[in-house]
Amino acid sequence: MAVFLFDELIFGPVRSRRLGVSLGINLLPTHKKICSFNCIYCECGWTNSHQALKNSLPRNEEFKTALEKKLIELQGTDLEPDSITFAGNGEPTLHPEFAAIVDTTLQLRNRYAPHALISVLSNGSMLHKTEIREALKMVDNNLLKLDGGREKTIRKINTPLKAFRLEEYIRLLQSFDGKLTIQSLFVRGTHKGEAIDNATSEELEAWLGLLHSIMPQHVMVYTIERSTPEEGLYKVPLEELEAIAEKVKADGFEVSVFG
Ligand code: SF4
Repeated sequence: MAVFLFDELIFGPVRSRRLGVSLGINLLPTHKKICSFNCIYCECGWTNSHQALKNSLPRNEEFKTALEKKLIELQGTDLEPDSITFAGNGEPTLHPEFAAIVDTTLQLRNRYAPHALISVLSNGSMLHKTEIREALKMVDNNLLKLDGGREKTIRKINTPLKAFRLEEYIRLLQSFDGKLTIQSLFVRGTHKGEAIDNATSEELEAWLGLLHSIMPQHVMVYTIERSTPEEGLYKVPLEELEAIAEKVKADGFEVSVFG
């Protein structure tokens, strides 16, 4: 597969399907992915490392200088960001200075781009750490992953590399009091000889049940966009994603679809 890695600490801005003009932040190395999951659909390729080694990561001071420079450069242009977005080559909350970096971002956003939202795309694997939870609760827009309604489905699709219990994860998501977006990717195909499909009616029923436990302010439904490390995967067609979104809407949630 063509591996898609971000080669800068601050990238873009890009026009994002989900976030408008988005200035991206990659807190992870520029040459490889570091993640606590090994999703079979990950655009960055298979996970070879889930340890964020301090020496290979940008420090808060370096980050501050780079973000300040970029925000000053964008001021008054038509690329002023709608969102300053933590994404990049893996899981941003694995960065050991993540909480301090969020603090820096809030200060710089308030000074140079007061209209931009701060967004974090996360797999939620570090929510058990109070410091990470508290940092995430300071940002405007948390997009947290939930790719299924049953633990065994999530294990097949996301392959958590650290301890994962769905029940515990839902409890941690509930602590956001609804101030979060659930991002759910739907996919089907095969992996290691096993069928993969998180869009069957049984799977959807379990997933909708979890949405009722979490009560998110928004749900994003999408599918794979680029090539995937597991080659036997297919997009869930747009009409089907729209039908899933209709169910979400009928249950009283705000939803958007990206096919
Ligand atoms: S959580 Fe995100 S970065 Fe990590 S493996 Fe999954 S898709 Fe890739």
